Amino acid sequence: MAIKRDYYEVLGVSRSASGEELKRAYRKLALQYHPDRNPNDPQAETRFKEVNEAYEVLSDASKRQRYDTFGHAGTQGMPGFDFGGGFSGMNDIFDAFFGGAMGARTRTGPQRGQDLRLDLRISFEDAVFGTERELTIPRAEACSSCEGSGAEPGTSAQTCPQCRGTGQIRRAAQSIFGQIVNVTSCPRCRGEGKIIEKPCRRCAGAGHVPGEKQVRVRIPAGVDSGSQIRLSREGEAGPRGGEPGDLYIALHVKAHPVLQRNGTDIIYELPLSVVQATLGDSVEIPTVEGSQRLEVPPGTQYGRVFRLHGHGVPHLRSGRRGDQIIYVRVVIPTNLTAQQKEALKSLGEVSGKPHPVDKGFFDKFKRAIGFE
Ligand SMILES: [Zn+2]
Ligand SMILES: [Zn+2]
Repeated sequence: MAIKRDYYEVLGVSRSASGEELKRAYRKLALQYHPDRNPNDPQAETRFKEVNEAYEVLSDASKRQRYDTFGHAGTQGMPGFDFGGGFSGMNDIFDAFFGGAMGARTRTGPQRGQDLRLDLRISFEDAVFGTERELTIPRAEACSSCEGSGAEPGTSAQTCPQCRGTGQIRRAAQSIFGQIVNVTSCPRCRGEGKIIEKPCRRCAGAGHVPGEKQVRVRIPAGVDSGSQIRLSREGEAGPRGGEPGDLYIALHVKAHPVLQRNGTDIIYELPLSVVQATLGDSVEIPTVEGSQRLEVPPGTQYGRVFRLHGHGVPHLRSGRRGDQIIYVRVVIPTNLTAQQKEALKSLGEVSGKPHPVDKGFFDKFKRAIGFE
């Protein structure tokens, strides 16, 4: 058997170190030598085992006293020193200390509740300006009778004797590659580490009951269809005291009758009669802030673009608003009366043939609204 280093030396503390000093030293060394940070490094593995062993003894007052009196001989037969099976023995102490923060380990204990998803339809204006909604969420709530434990009031869940509360069964087997530790979920407690002998009558031992909750949701300005809002811990209650899941609200923005969205810009197609486009006019433009007056100059061509700066949708993060883009569509009349036809004919005689139209106007429009 190899000679063991002194536990105080392993942690680099004095023999009179306080509990706090031990904790600090252990934390630093355990993180430094943790196998997740030192893959395939047998030296780090050995150091990690040493550090864990030293801390397990020195952090326990009675074990420390025996160690101080008898040295390593005093720790013989203490529980928790079966480090022969690879890393199986020490993850528990490591996890208890760091809350299982390193890497992905088999989870034991109560399970987390389910995430919930809810679809919410909002108006075009609500998406632009943001809104608040009070929602009723049907979801599992922690049972008020047993406070989520699942055990009948007055009784409590017992530590599972098969896995001693760890929720895991470890089987070490010898193979040609060395010792292999197989970790499976405990079949007796289904990995929860606890057994309920008298299930709560209200929730039949589940720890939660069907219920509903009012949840207030703030929908920020600038959201769009497909945006999701996550409300942490507003999902289903976890079984037997497990932490609740999250609530996801998926947004669907209703179409506006005349306005369309392109990113943070709002697009409006303005229909003008030939006469309005030719002679100019003062027209009402619908915006998300009510109607605005626009002076259309004489000789306005089909496809001309006007911009109302800052009347678009706020950017979700910066809050900067886009523009409202007004695209002119000249409506050519159909179904004319005989009188209208005559008037147009005489107009044609005095106005002559049109100049060739600038062929690039549609390209300019596409550039203006950011499609190119
Ligand atoms: Zn209950
Ligand atoms: Zn068990």
